[in-house]
Amino acid sequence: MKAMMLYRYGERLALDEVPVPSPHPGELLVQVKATGLCGTDLKIIQGKLSIGPPPHVLGHEIAGVVAGRGEGVDAGWLGKRVALHLYCACGKCRACRRGEYNMCDDLPGRLGFELPGGLAEYVTSPSRCAVELPPGMSFEEACVAPCAMLTIHHAIRRARVEPGDMVALIGVGGLGIHGVQLLAGMGNEVTAVDVVDAKLEFARKMGASQALTFDAFQRGGERYDVLIDMIGKADAAKESFDRKLARGGKYVLISFLPGAEMSFDVQRMAMDECQIIGIRNGSIQELRDTLAAQAEGRMKPVIDSALPLAEANAALDLIRAGKLMGRVVVSHES
Ligand SMILES: [Zn+2]
Ligand SMILES: [Zn+2]
Repeated sequence: MKAMMLYRYGERLALDEVPVPSPHPGELLVQVKATGLCGTDLKIIQGKLSIGPPPHVLGHEIAGVVAGRGEGVDAGWLGKRVALHLYCACGKCRACRRGEYNMCDDLPGRLGFELPGGLAEYVTSPSRCAVELPPGMSFEEACVAPCAMLTIHHAIRRARVEPGDMVALIGVGGLGIHGVQLLAGMGNEVTAVDVVDAKLEFARKMGASQALTFDAFQRGGERYDVLIDMIGKADAAKESFDRKLARGGKYVLISFLPGAEMSFDVQRMAMDECQIIGIRNGSIQELRDTLAAQAEGRMKPVIDSALPLAEANAALDLIRAGKLMGRVVVSHES
């Protein structure tokens, strides 16, 4: 099969011919139809994440059709259109028993990280990590679910955002823009914060009641019940926590720089009962819920461009340029 291979950190991906993987017991063989790419892929290419030596097949945002099965997998899976949870969880630990594959204590690996991902014609995945697509959903729309949309959905749930809460989304790229939609649909006042004017304008169009540059956000007198940080810069985070979070507020941290440390005023945290909430992807049930939210139109995937597999490097260049309005996907059918 064809695959885009990362042979050395820092290099461009190379189109190559590699064997089709065979599914182990409990696994599905999935013919990949669409693969979303995101900033995490750039971090992997740069060697910034510790996922072992290359070669790697990137692509952790995958939708496709079940084309084969390993021992013990129900034949009913064959031909099903699926999206894959990227955490190939053990299925046995405490977290897995609750369906929290994102928190697996004994994680064998993640698709497109430690394990081969979707920049190939086929991929294998434990059947427990596959979710059938709602009827009529395209693979391009579906592949966005397991990363950006699942993560922001999980963040909004984990922060227990209530109707009427004032919420600010700091950074309205691939995750933020979907958060704007979901929150606006829940009836919340959403403030979008970014440094790119075009992204702010787009956020307004998608339902943000306010769209502010980071400076204007910091200067303003408003405080927010929930701040969702998708930038993860330490000094800016401290400023936002100290000056922009309401009493009893929640600071939700999604993005981070590996190894970075943040400091917060502990007196303020205790006296004002503020919380800091970390976010990592989401559970398998939340992936089902995310796809349902998409099918019901509560969160519409924003796809900027779709390119064929052989042009995955060009797709990554679009992310590098930082000007995408939404996601870029590799469509294996184009
Ligand atoms: Zn991603
Ligand atoms: Zn587990």
